[in-house]
Amino acid sequence: MTESATPPADATAEPCEVDVVIVGGGPAGLSAALNLGRARASVLLVDAGRPRNAATLRSHGFLTRDGVPPLELRKLARAELAAYPNVRLADRTVVTGILRRDGENGTRFLVAVNGRKPGTPTVVAARSVLVATGLRETLPAIPSLRAYYGMTIFSCAACDAWELQDRRLALIGETGDLAARARLIARWTDRLTVFTNGTEVVDTVEEAELTASGIRVERRRIADLEGDRGTVEAVRLTDGERVEIDGGFVRPVWNPTLDFLTGIDAERDDEGHLAVDGSGRTSVAGLYAAGDAAAPGPQQLIVAAGQGARSAAVIVHDLVGVRTAH
Ligand SMILES: Cc1cc2nc3c(=O)[nH]c(=O)nc-3n(C[C@H](O)[C@H](O)[C@H](O)COP(=O)(O)OP(=O)(O)OC[C@H]3O[C@@H](n4cnc5c(N)ncnc54)[C@H](O)[C@@H]3O)c2cc1C
Repeated sequence: MTESATPPADATAEPCEVDVVIVGGGPAGLSAALNLGRARASVLLVDAGRPRNAATLRSHGFLTRDGVPPLELRKLARAELAAYPNVRLADRTVVTGILRRDGENGTRFLVAVNGRKPGTPTVVAARSVLVATGLRETLPAIPSLRAYYGMTIFSCAACDAWELQDRRLALIGETGDLAARARLIARWTDRLTVFTNGTEVVDTVEEAELTASGIRVERRRIADLEGDRGTVEAVRLTDGERVEIDGGFVRPVWNPTLDFLTGIDAERDDEGHLAVDGSGRTSVAGLYAAGDAAAPGPQQLIVAAGQGARSAAVIVHDLVGVRTAH
């Protein structure tokens, strides 16, 4: 284990102490908090309150909650947590640093917390830490893309393609997996155009295969999208030509934002997600990860929630020092 040369802010202050600090209050963190609460663990759930899916109005594919607004799902989960006094929520609060530091009563980490609400602890000693901070997305640099993202342009086919089926769709991206994603999206429509935005990410063999299955490849650069109040109507190319569409998908670049972990030498995959075993354990004893921040990266709400629940059970087992199935 490594220790940061610079301790987290206020690391000298008297820390409060919990079994588990959960960093991030999306479906992964909330589900872990519920299950840890039920296992009588003392929990501090710290959430900055900036979910990845905030751009969209409806979430799909979550059993019993298909079509629920993203914030409603969080609200329901937080209401359930209120029944567990051993779970505390630090809302609109950010974890800014974590140190590996053995302390009394089996604590192994010092967690620096930055929140505006009076009474929010600034340093917390924890026996375990669960990272559930999700991802940050970078979209291709198309001026008004954000105005349509989550409304009629999406990134997750499994989540949102049903509502767009059989329409004229665009797939916009600049990453090497674009042809593969086009074949996936073609499951929902036979009117698909792939826009590489001037990049060479689709090779000539892939283009021939896509063309043979009725998918058009457009290599010219995009000037912007056109439409009204979130409803996209066309892709405008830099030479002025317009390609009319009714919706589409974009391939973002995803990055986990784990700056607060610079003091902890946990293994990552090639894209920076925390490497975990099948139970959410990272390479650092006592540090766990669940949801989109854990390898292999972006998934779905119900997958993140499932990973959070599984990590909670494993954390409890590890705290007690037993290795059993559930
Ligand atoms: C536009 C869009 C639409 C989507 N639609 C669907 C859908 O319909 N169905 C579906 O299943 N999935 C959908 N997804 C994917 C889904 O949103 C994610 O898979 C899911 O939210 C991942 O959950 P998570 O708990 O890992 O992370 P998140 O939900 O992103 O939550 C992470 C939380 O951690 C907080 N955080 C980050 N850093 C810190 C820190 N240092 N300290 C404290 N808190 C921190 C963030 O503010 C955030 O609240 C969509 C995604 C996008 C972008």
